[in-house]
Amino acid sequence: MQMELPRRKLLQATGASLAVGGSLAATGGTASAEPVDTWEPAHSTNYGSSNRTAADINWIVVHVTVGEYSGAINWFQNPEANVSAHYVIRNSDGHTTKMVEESDIAYHASGFNANSIGIEHEWTEAQGHISETMYQQSAELIEYLADQYDIPLDYYRDYTVPCDAEGGIIEHRHAPVDSGCSSSNQTACPGPDWDGDQLMSFVDGDADDGPAFAEGQPITATTTVNTREEPGLNADVIETMEDGDVGTIVNGSETADGETWWGIHWTDEDIWGWSVEQYLDACPTFCHGTRVEVTRDLNVREGPSLDDSVVHTVPEEQTGRVVGGPQSDNGVQFWEVSYDSGVEGWSVGGDDALVPE
Ligand SMILES: [Zn+2]
Repeated sequence: MQMELPRRKLLQATGASLAVGGSLAATGGTASAEPVDTWEPAHSTNYGSSNRTAADINWIVVHVTVGEYSGAINWFQNPEANVSAHYVIRNSDGHTTKMVEESDIAYHASGFNANSIGIEHEWTEAQGHISETMYQQSAELIEYLADQYDIPLDYYRDYTVPCDAEGGIIEHRHAPVDSGCSSSNQTACPGPDWDGDQLMSFVDGDADDGPAFAEGQPITATTTVNTREEPGLNADVIETMEDGDVGTIVNGSETADGETWWGIHWTDEDIWGWSVEQYLDACPTFCHGTRVEVTRDLNVREGPSLDDSVVHTVPEEQTGRVVGGPQSDNGVQFWEVSYDSGVEGWSVGGDDALVPE
């Protein structure tokens, strides 16, 4: 699996300098398009001009705006602001605006700006949640940045970590206030609704963290993908699955023909076969489309909260299909389920409530 080692580790193994890493990152063969929709430069007094490269950029700091998307963009363009972030993402649909070049230093995390990139996520108290779409978009951006700047895909919640670790992803409130990691930034950002685990569930590329999936993991096809009788490109194709088809990992992984293969039960089609890992994504607990079964009499609510009224109680062993979520309410995760009996609404997930069929 030498190929999948992060560039930084390869460079250390060969004794190459990190400055070389910068030029490699810029010309690397895996470069993909930057997942950005619009470019609205921040006012020049709201960031520091620099010429940072991969050697300097080691951390991604996640924030929430505590205000609307357009308001955040306007503020970073206002010469009075003296703050900025490299990117701002919209909650409703993941629309992404770039405002500061990565080579420049945005002002978003006080003494931790010089070696980091800041991503602002739209959140207002009235919205009261972070959408799955925005987590997915942020994960895509993080994967892109990690690839470009050789940033490890590890998520940290401790202000002392940056003085020991090579880099990673960190919440604003846990980012150190200075380069000596003496204390954290004194802030609540990214706020009560932020779920770093959910963000990271959408982030791929953890090739050095062991297997990508475990048995029973719900997955979804990220593009058209063949599923075959055996691992290997010469094995017979059973079926060509479509983007968005869902299944469950039942076997693997196996390596064949330079690819990592997983045995999958494609649940809707009831097909069992082997597909290549890079065309599959793990879903957090369930995919949209995953068939589920309730393990006890379970309440179905109008909305994703214990405050929402119960519209129905479905009996143990009732089956259905996940169509939305997850959304969290005080640490309880809710899923929108269309039950086969015709009832539709929000139910609590988890082993003692809702499991894959
Ligand atoms: Zn922040």
